[in-house]
Amino acid sequence: MNPKALEEHRISDIKTLKVTSRYPRMISKNARVGVHGTGSTAQVRVITTNQGSVGWGLSWADEQDMFASLSSSPSVNRPDLIGKSVAELFNPEVGVIHEEFMPLDFPLHDLAGVILNQPVYQMLGSNGTTVVPCYDGAIYMDDLLPEDNPRGIEAVLTNCRNDYDLGYRAFKLKIGRGYKWMETEEGLRRDIEVTRKVRENFPDCQILVDANNGYTCDGFIRYFDAVADCSIFWVEEPFHENREDLSRLKEFLAKRSPNTLIADGESGYDIESLLKLANEGLVDVLIMDIAGLGFTNWRKLMPRVIEAKVQISPHTWGNPLKTLYASQLAAGLGNTVTLEGIPTQTSDVDWSPYELKDGLLHVPAEPGFGISIKHSIQT
Ligand SMILES: [Mg+2]
Repeated sequence: MNPKALEEHRISDIKTLKVTSRYPRMISKNARVGVHGTGSTAQVRVITTNQGSVGWGLSWADEQDMFASLSSSPSVNRPDLIGKSVAELFNPEVGVIHEEFMPLDFPLHDLAGVILNQPVYQMLGSNGTTVVPCYDGAIYMDDLLPEDNPRGIEAVLTNCRNDYDLGYRAFKLKIGRGYKWMETEEGLRRDIEVTRKVRENFPDCQILVDANNGYTCDGFIRYFDAVADCSIFWVEEPFHENREDLSRLKEFLAKRSPNTLIADGESGYDIESLLKLANEGLVDVLIMDIAGLGFTNWRKLMPRVIEAKVQISPHTWGNPLKTLYASQLAAGLGNTVTLEGIPTQTSDVDWSPYELKDGLLHVPAEPGFGISIKHSIQT
């Protein structure tokens, strides 16, 4: 590895492209949001250097916003980045150097890895394992659809079976049906029934539950009381995080299911209060979105997470690339309890170096993120 290499590579081109991916089925409702659709299209940027190296990745900001913020930055004299050395934008020790370049967080990590000929996780210190537990985050409330003739619990079990065949050995069940889709008591009963049925049908698999903050503390404790013998791996966002309710839940779990973790921080979070709750032992896993918080910001935050003696599992819903990025973060920084996986197919991207087997995602040792865009969409 030539440490000067990032100085020697100058950006010669930045292209904005779209990659489309499809779920193997329509994803239905969670506690709060209706049908999630059949897939997504995401914007990516492909950066090429004057020496022919290419790095790419998700990059949401639109052209105008990105370059407007860059041109107003005192550290940048030009409204674009052409001609800049990679070292001016990126430091392998920390990630993206200036806030203004954050829209290129993923492409720059990939590019630096390609130039330095090392996987991103190695750049991060290889503190974790390259074989990371990965759960299925796509078990939604299919029992409620179609609305005029709902398929019932068998629909949820079918989804679990299909995803088991794809290599998943842990299922995250969406709960909170009584928040808006069913009458409260009926929703509670269905949540319990779904959880118990999945446990019964998949005795060798982990179960995680996610209420998207759709329960009250009392309601959630009633739910959990009825599934406490199901070895629930974690409860995610049972209600909006607050000290009083989390203390009650922790106390309850300590008695009924002491190994169950509390995961929080996906929506409406405030990092400082979350860290405070984590330090008080009221949250066990921080799950801010891998892209919403950002790869560089997760790198920055990790020492404080370790200090709080909690683990992470960045939220990845929305695009399958996010799971792969999170796996590199896990292999690089460690301290990641599991990854959120979403069964997805695409013909735009080749992520075949990543392999899911028996519930474990194998992170490849290829340079950068080890994912390539198919030539067909590059034109
Ligand atoms: Mg969630």
